[in-house]
Amino acid sequence: MTFLTHLECSVCGDRHSPHEPQTVCRSCGKSLLARYDLAAAKSSFTKDSLKGKPYSMWKYSPLLPIERQENIVSLGEQITPLITLPKFGENLGLPKLIMKDEGQLPTGSFKARGLVMAISKAKELGIKSVCIPSAGNAAGALAAYAARAGIEAHIFLPEDTPEINIKESLVCGAQVELVKGNISDAAKRMNERRKTETTWFDVSTLKEPYRLEGKKTMGYELGEQFNWELPDVIVYPTGGGTGLIGMWKAFDEMEKLGWIGSKRPKMVSVQSTGCAPIVRAYGEQKKNSAFWENATTIASGLRVPKAFADYLILEAVYNSGGWAIGVSDEEIVNTVYEIAQTEGLFISPEGAAAFAALRYLLPDGKITEEDTVVVFNTATGIKYPEVVKR
Ligand SMILES: *Cc1c(COP(=O)(O)O)cnc(C)c1O
Ligand SMILES: [Zn+2]
Repeated sequence: MTFLTHLECSVCGDRHSPHEPQTVCRSCGKSLLARYDLAAAKSSFTKDSLKGKPYSMWKYSPLLPIERQENIVSLGEQITPLITLPKFGENLGLPKLIMKDEGQLPTGSFKARGLVMAISKAKELGIKSVCIPSAGNAAGALAAYAARAGIEAHIFLPEDTPEINIKESLVCGAQVELVKGNISDAAKRMNERRKTETTWFDVSTLKEPYRLEGKKTMGYELGEQFNWELPDVIVYPTGGGTGLIGMWKAFDEMEKLGWIGSKRPKMVSVQSTGCAPIVRAYGEQKKNSAFWENATTIASGLRVPKAFADYLILEAVYNSGGWAIGVSDEEIVNTVYEIAQTEGLFISPEGAAAFAALRYLLPDGKITEEDTVVVFNTATGIKYPEVVKR
């Protein structure tokens, strides 16, 4: 069912077995990447073989890490739709603007993609309890999939996390601890607890190899939805960077399978100016980011002061010829209203950040009206009632 062969360190290349629980590289402590026998996959897993398969991310299973189908802990992950924004796009000067709407996934955000994979693999490996620090949506998704799998979930959230993320975790039976500060403080608290809670398996962003595999399906879906001609530009609101890194990995795999050529979209990483470590590192053309002090933004999913795999985010942005752009919370909120009123789409503040960034890309010709631009709306706006007024 899968062509998975091993896990490979993203920095030193050290190989790890996929048949036992793995976190980060045992030699250098960096993120592990799942590797597949792509040469073998190429002969049986073809573009044509995708036709007529169920309309779900699991149609890409040969290049996903789950060995046995019965371990898939699904809540109905559909292929997410591409939606045009004719009025908003025309006003902006981007007639070929398209939104990929991740708000339609289980638990209302694209965190479902990563966590369905991490939890399915955890089940396959016999893991009984997991833990996570989260800025919000990852908590809700983890709680849901863990409940479904019968795995215990221990969740650490900033105390000012949107109320819905706390409640959606609790309603699914997760153990929730609220921590003063941001996701980095939540992670510190979690690691303190893990000194005595030695059975908890950590599913933090990119400290576990399989959330990335779930998120990479966005790349496969885009390829198939665009009939294997990738868009010119992808705009992605970035926290831990799993989706951006995952799509970049998917494109590489797709080329090795002979599904696409060497052309790549320009990858645009968007953050809030209240927490913009990737944007700052990009501005200084650095390979790594520095911790962002006093991170604040209403786009809670973007409040990640230091992404563990920042070097992989920056690498993808640089190698694609893309950019990293910061937008203010005010621009974010205005864009939520604007897109709701012109298109009837109530998007998340993170998605709105990505749309707001278009205004910085257009004036100096970084993108033009000729370009097909895909912007990710990473969650439904309905999860963020506090962002808008009555
Ligand atoms: C987590 C999150 C992000 C950031 O995603 P990464 O892949 O971790 O960068 C963006 N938007 C929303 C709504 C999120 O929950
Ligand atoms: Zn290593």
